[in-house]
Amino acid sequence: MAPLSKVGGLADVVSSLPKALVRLRTDARVLIPAYPGVLDKAHDMGLRVTRIKRDIHVALNWRVTTAKLWKIQYEDVPVYAIDNCELFNNPLIYPEDIDPESILPFCFLSLAGYELSQAISWKPDILHAHDWGTSLVPISGKWHPFYSMVGKEYTTVYTIHNLAHQGIVSPSILDGLGMEDSFTINRLEFFGSVNLMKGALITSDAVTTVSPRYAQEITGETMGVGLDGVIRERQDKIRGILNGLDTRYWDPLTDQLIPCNYSSEQMAGKRSCKEALLEKTGLEDISRPLVTMVGRLYSQKGIELVIGNMDDVIKEGANIFILGSGDETFERALEEKASSLPHRVSFARGYNEPLAHLAYAAGDIFLMPSLFEPCGLSQLIALRYGNIPLVRETGGLADTILDADKNTRGYGFVFSDFSSSSMLLACKRALQAFYSGERWNNIMTRAMKMDFSWDHSAPEYQSLYSEALHQRTRVD
Ligand code: ADP
Repeated sequence: MAPLSKVGGLADVVSSLPKALVRLRTDARVLIPAYPGVLDKAHDMGLRVTRIKRDIHVALNWRVTTAKLWKIQYEDVPVYAIDNCELFNNPLIYPEDIDPESILPFCFLSLAGYELSQAISWKPDILHAHDWGTSLVPISGKWHPFYSMVGKEYTTVYTIHNLAHQGIVSPSILDGLGMEDSFTINRLEFFGSVNLMKGALITSDAVTTVSPRYAQEITGETMGVGLDGVIRERQDKIRGILNGLDTRYWDPLTDQLIPCNYSSEQMAGKRSCKEALLEKTGLEDISRPLVTMVGRLYSQKGIELVIGNMDDVIKEGANIFILGSGDETFERALEEKASSLPHRVSFARGYNEPLAHLAYAAGDIFLMPSLFEPCGLSQLIALRYGNIPLVRETGGLADTILDADKNTRGYGFVFSDFSSSSMLLACKRALQAFYSGERWNNIMTRAMKMDFSWDHSAPEYQSLYSEALHQRTRVD
C-alpha cells in the first residue's frame, strides 16, 4: 500500500481506492503486513500510529502464530498493519521462489482477514482481496475447515491485478492448513500443484480485473495463462473496472517531489523539470525530445522492444531516460547503452520514487510498449504530467490511450503488433508530432486534461459490492 510499501501499481490501487470509497461514505479499511520499513515510513510521514491491545492469532502448520497489530491513520483511511518480524521480513515483499515456506506470510495475511474482528471492535461485510497473495481469503472462507464456518458472515471480492502471477505452489501447503481435501481438479489442483488464483476465482462472490479490455483478453488461451477455462466458466461474475489514479498525489501543480510545479495553463515549470533531469543525468541538449520509461524491467513491459529500437530512436534525435529494475540481462544491456552514449542515454537502476516523479515531469514521450498490461498506471501518471504515452494496444493501455494521428481528440501514440518495427513506426510518428510545435502543445494539453481519477471507478466498485452482497457464490 503506497506510500507505506510499494512494488508496482497494486500498491497505488490499494492506497487510492479506499480513499475514494471513504469519500463515497463506504467504511473502507485496509489490512497490510508491516514489512520492514512500513512503520518507520508511517512515523516519518507524521501519521498517527497506535498499537492495538489485542494481537492477531492464526493457526498455520498446526501451531498458533501471533502478530502484533498497529493502526495507522492514513488520511481518512484506517490501516491495520500486522507485525511479525519473522514472517514479514522480506523487504522486496514478493519471494523469488514460491514454496510452502515463502508463502506463509501471504497465508497469515489472508487468514488474518477473518481474525481482525476479534482484535478490533469492527467487522466488515466485504473482504476485498487483491492478487494471488491474498487468494486464501475467498478460498478459506469456503473450503477451510474452520474459516468456512466464519466465512458465511462475509462476502468476498477478488481483484486480479496480474494473471501472470497465480501463486502456484506444492500441494504440501494444504497439510498445514487442514485443507488436503481441496486438492481436487474442481478446487485447487492445477497440473499437480496448487494454484491459489484458480481457487480464488472459483470461491469469490465477485471477481474484478483492472480494465475492461483485460477482462476480455483473459478469456482467451494466449492471455488466460492456463486459467482461461476457469475464467470462461466464471465469466458472468468477472467485471473489468478500470483502475483510477490518485490525482491529488500525482499532480504536477502541487507535486513536492519535482523542482518546479506546472499545469496545462502554466507550462514553464515543465521545462525546468527537464533541465533538472538533464543536469542530474548528464544528458545534453534540452531541445531534443526526451523519451522516458519508468517501470519494472521484465518482458511483460516490452523492454526488449525498447532496447532493440534505441539506436534508431537516438538517430531520430531523441534522448532517452529509463528508470527501473528487474531482469539482469535487461539491466546490463541498458547500462552498456548508457555508458557508450552518456549524453544521449541515461539509465537509473532501482526503485526511486522522487526520480520517478522527475522523469514523469521532465519527459516528452513516455514508453509503455507492453506485451500485456492488465491496466497500467504509469501511462495515466504520464498523461497528468504532459508526458505523452506511446503504448501497445493491449489491456488497460488500449482502454485509456487514444492515438493522436487517428483521432482528432487523441493524446498518445498506439501500435498493435508486438514487434520492434511497429513500435519504431509509432516512435517516428510521435517524434514528428513533437517537432510540429503547436500541434504537440495541443496534444499535451489534451493529455493533461484527461480525467482518470477514481471518480468514475470507485462508484463502480460500490455497485459491485452491493450486488455481491446479494449474490453469494455457492461452491461444492
Ligand atoms: P505494474 O504494476 O505492472 O508494475 P503499473 O503501471 O500499474 O505497472 O504501476 C507501476 C507503478 O510503480 C507506478 O506508480 C510507477 O510510477 C511505479 N514504479 C515502477 N517502477 C518504478 C521505479 N523504478 N521507481 C519508482 N517508481 C516505480
